[in-house]
Amino acid sequence: MAAKVSCCVVGAGAAGLCALKYALEYGMEAVAYEKYNEIGGTWVCTEHAADGCATAEDVHSSMYDGLRTNLPKEVMDFPDFKFPTNMRESYILASDVLKYFQSYAEHFKLLPHIKLRQEVVRVRPLHGKWEVLTLDLQSNDYTTQQFDYIFICNGRYATPSYPSTPGIDLFKGHKIHSHVFRRAETFKDATVLMVGAGRSGMDITHHIYPYAARIYLSHHLQQKPPITDFMPNVVQKPVVERYTENGAIFKDGTEANFTHIVFCTGYDLTIPFLSADCNLQVHDNLVYPLYKHCINIYHPTMCFIGLPIYAYPIQLFDLQMRFVMQYYSGKLQLPSAEDMLADTERDLAERRERGLPRRKAHLVGERQFDYYDELVALTGIDNIRPVIKKLSKICGGKFLYDLQNYRKTAFKVIDNENFVQFKL
Ligand code: FAD
Repeated sequence: MAAKVSCCVVGAGAAGLCALKYALEYGMEAVAYEKYNEIGGTWVCTEHAADGCATAEDVHSSMYDGLRTNLPKEVMDFPDFKFPTNMRESYILASDVLKYFQSYAEHFKLLPHIKLRQEVVRVRPLHGKWEVLTLDLQSNDYTTQQFDYIFICNGRYATPSYPSTPGIDLFKGHKIHSHVFRRAETFKDATVLMVGAGRSGMDITHHIYPYAARIYLSHHLQQKPPITDFMPNVVQKPVVERYTENGAIFKDGTEANFTHIVFCTGYDLTIPFLSADCNLQVHDNLVYPLYKHCINIYHPTMCFIGLPIYAYPIQLFDLQMRFVMQYYSGKLQLPSAEDMLADTERDLAERRERGLPRRKAHLVGERQFDYYDELVALTGIDNIRPVIKKLSKICGGKFLYDLQNYRKTAFKVIDNENFVQFKL
């Protein structure tokens, strides 16, 4: 990169750290703003969030006491920074993941470039640059700065999404979203309705079953192939038709009473600090129009790292950063706005044909590897290591089929191609 260009990174979770690392490596003058008082994003467990009374705004992350990863650490490391070799288990504690990201930041000397307790409150294009307005959360002072590039890495698990099921306001018991769940003991002797059997619904069910008297797990998963065996105090239920004062009536006409509800119903994507002249619509979990789910087509010096869901987040962040840096370093030219838009429309149309709702416009899931292949084909960057794809065939979606045991398997990566697995 010939002249020193400046860049701003919003957020210092895993995506922000990765963005900062590459920006610095490419010789940019980079700064990351993080609104919390430490780095790590999702992996920081804020102990003080009290179940039942915390609001989403009070809570920094969705992390809870004792969470273990739902993916093996072997698919959660950056290609240029390994987990410590003495860790035998694959499904590790959140605190160990946080330590890993802290070590990553130290190793790549990122810390001097991170400004903590600084919230980005507005981003707008101004005379060919990005004007970023930040709020110092300690002094309450506002500052504006200008940058050539901006990397948006604010995460996607901050704004809980709730279903609009009839009667929910009638229910007199405790209601929380998984975002504010912290400790299993809170549910001692309780009868609990878990709404949703995605990763959070299944994992929190597994956490609280030793304490709760009974758990109703309401979901719309197909039973074929059969989903996991559940613990004896867990009763599967279909979707709730309507709530009552003390419980719910389900779609199959059955009823149940319970004292607590945990909504494990996901998150809404929100990026409140983008001004209207960024020329982006953020609606129904879609940021539009973006080229390849990351580059703002009308202002290509803005990119988003980590929007695709049901991917392997760390692999995704690293590959997306290497992809955009090919353009931002001047090595490659982006297609015209017209061509990028046509590409995005093709992608959206193809998703519609597959029956995917707009809310899932950034879902990659099993097709994550096709997405990576596309970015690689366009830019010639290295693909993710083949061993990651091989591991995905064995560990993908395991929580659904073997909730009680899947973490008892561990993996050891031998080289970029091969791994072994063993029982713990
Ligand atoms: P985040 O970690 O959310 O970081 C975003 C950061 O941006 C935060 O620190 C936030 O404070 C900051 N920020 C937001 N807005 C602003 C602003 N306006 N100004 C300044 N700073 C701002 N992934 C896995 O690979 N394996 C797992 O096992 C796994 N388990 C998970 C379990 C749970 C309960 C959840 C919620 C997620 C899990 N994930 C897991 C996904 C995980 O979120 C990603 O792996 C990854 O850590 C996300 O990183 P991120 O940087 O995109 O977002």
